Amino acid sequence: MYSILDTPIEYLKGVGPQRAELLRKELNISTFNDFLHHFPFRYLDRSKFTVINEIMDENTWIQIRGQITGIQLLGSGRTMRLVANFRDHTGETQLVWFNGLKWIREKIRLNQTYVVFGKPNLFNGKYNFTHPDIETPDESAVSSDEPLQPWYPTTEKLKNRGFSPRNIVNLMRTLINQVRGQIPETLSEPLLNQLKMMPRAKAMVQIHFPQDAQQLVRARERLKFEELFFIQLQLLKLKYIRLEKVTGRVFPVIGDYFNEFFHKYLPFELTNAQKRVIKEIRADMKSGKQMNRLLQGDVGSGKTLVALMSMLIANDNGFQACLMAPTEILAMQHFKTIKKMLGHVPVQVELLTGSTRKAARTKIFSQLQEGSLHILIGTHALIEDQVKFKSLGLVVIDEQHRFGVAQRARLWEKSVQPPHILVMTATPIPRTLAMTLYGDLDVSIIDELPPGRKPIKTFHYFEKDRFNVFRFLKNQIDNGRQVYIVYPLIDESENVDLQYLMDGFEGVSRYFPLPDYQISIVHGRLKAHEKESEMKRFVEKKTQILMATTVIEVGVDVPNATVMLIENAERFGLSQLHQLRGRVGRGGDQSFCILMSSYKLTKDGRKRLDVMVRTTDGFEIAEADLHLRGPGDIKGTQQSGLVGLKLASIVKDEKLLKIAREMAHRILSVDPLLQSPENQPLLRQLQQPIYDWGKIS
Ligand code: ADP
Ligand code: MG
Repeated sequence: MYSILDTPIEYLKGVGPQRAELLRKELNISTFNDFLHHFPFRYLDRSKFTVINEIMDENTWIQIRGQITGIQLLGSGRTMRLVANFRDHTGETQLVWFNGLKWIREKIRLNQTYVVFGKPNLFNGKYNFTHPDIETPDESAVSSDEPLQPWYPTTEKLKNRGFSPRNIVNLMRTLINQVRGQIPETLSEPLLNQLKMMPRAKAMVQIHFPQDAQQLVRARERLKFEELFFIQLQLLKLKYIRLEKVTGRVFPVIGDYFNEFFHKYLPFELTNAQKRVIKEIRADMKSGKQMNRLLQGDVGSGKTLVALMSMLIANDNGFQACLMAPTEILAMQHFKTIKKMLGHVPVQVELLTGSTRKAARTKIFSQLQEGSLHILIGTHALIEDQVKFKSLGLVVIDEQHRFGVAQRARLWEKSVQPPHILVMTATPIPRTLAMTLYGDLDVSIIDELPPGRKPIKTFHYFEKDRFNVFRFLKNQIDNGRQVYIVYPLIDESENVDLQYLMDGFEGVSRYFPLPDYQISIVHGRLKAHEKESEMKRFVEKKTQILMATTVIEVGVDVPNATVMLIENAERFGLSQLHQLRGRVGRGGDQSFCILMSSYKLTKDGRKRLDVMVRTTDGFEIAEADLHLRGPGDIKGTQQSGLVGLKLASIVKDEKLLKIAREMAHRILSVDPLLQSPENQPLLRQLQQPIYDWGKIS
């Protein structure tokens, strides 16, 4: 059905084909509907002005009124800038532009009155404005029916080509006048009534041109709710369909494999959390439904063991299991650990990775099809089509941020009776993010570390302390311990991170000379087998120091290592730091994490290091991470539908998110396929391309 909202944006009066192209390129806006969703990011009470000598802080947008008394072009090349002196009756400030100099120069006239709008910066003890918006009083005049003027995100390019913030306001007004009354509702009638929320058509008008502050709040709430609601509806619909349509393999028994392992070889008591989680998994696997469960547990909480015991239950019921790790090194380590743990329990376990030789591979394939192979461990390649199991009953996926909703859906869409799936993640995820990233999964949490672990002590040092830090390392090594030294990995340039590592190596090898001290080095330029042999030397205690870029981020387990020294720690994200720190503290000895940083720290950089020093609680760190970075940067969000969030924030709108999820549950529990007439608007909305995650790879 054609709607006016599908009209190409070039047909909006005042746009035209060329500027439409620009809008598409710069802001990804190609239709009326896209433009309607270009929401203001703030509103300005245009009746209020600040005077120059009362400017007090850097964080508020303000408007000032005055004249430009002089203008100069300073610097050259990259530092070329236009600086204007701007004066009102109380004082003087400077306006600075780095881009679009020509356009601004042409526009500006000396001694004419302007309204300047922007955020002041403190520079050399004085406030100035970089790239402020500047308008004549006429241009910025307040019309009485628009007490709050919307302010839209734009780009320098757009500004220079006739899309000043003011122009955008005018275009938006034109659009709203044209589509008013034709904005469709997306929520069902009963839902709207229940929530007492503003109808969508009204919310769309009010968010652009609010009558007053209260209407604005209600409009934003309504539109935020909608964003959160449809993500939940989509995720939970997947789940309801799975529960309704897909039958799970039933694993009723606990048999010899499990029992022999449990009674003969399990070297320790399970923690209560491990016991609880195994029960939850067991209940899923005999329920007749297909399990889709996320197992969250901090680094070192003992997830591998839970995975192994779950796989043995599959084996006991005549099914095969596989364990997928994100890297070869990790897969290999899982393989070794599991083989060792199993002792003489007669289950057949094999490792399959990219480096598995042809002969071994052929043998594995035939054992898989015969069913004589019980557990296969490997990388992603495990679920490729040519790998055929006789009866795959359980897939365990370890440390998979990259394994998003779409891939999961593909995995179980492959067959009518797909295997049970257990996704394990070591990066604790705040609840709200988990609901959104993994909203289609059930969640189990291991919130307890095995007993006897000594909490890792974390310190933050600067370069001037290096000598003491090295002396400390030497002391640990001389006592038989091993240490990691990790350097930042800088995506843009492999050369730069190699440089960091090599510079560091010089200092380290001088302080820790051969032959008493042996050093392993691992970085991205090495071939896989070179990396592995370097790691191996460290694992086998042939070297005492492992210097690396972040390749060891996930997985390696060397209980004898007691120090994690992180260079340029301010360059790492919180979850990375937490993962790295988790590499030590795995044995009985007191372990240490040393964060080295430069003196120049950004506010956020400083906060991250403070959080690390203050706490070892993974959930606390994850919350802090989410608040510092915002969800946009967190891996995997692309695949989760979080891209659809323009207004809502899973950090700030937790309450609304919970309501959205609850409502989605209520609706789907009665009508899982959304077939009833009243749910048709919901179904239609879900068919919009942004909710088709299968297409986002
Ligand atoms: P994760 O994968 O969750 O980071 P692992 O499964 O690698 O953690 O376990 C970390 C270490 O703790 C391993 O050496 C493992 O053998 C040990 N471990 C696991 N469960 C227990 C337990 N209940 N008691 C003591 N040690 C345990
Ligand atoms: Mg693990």
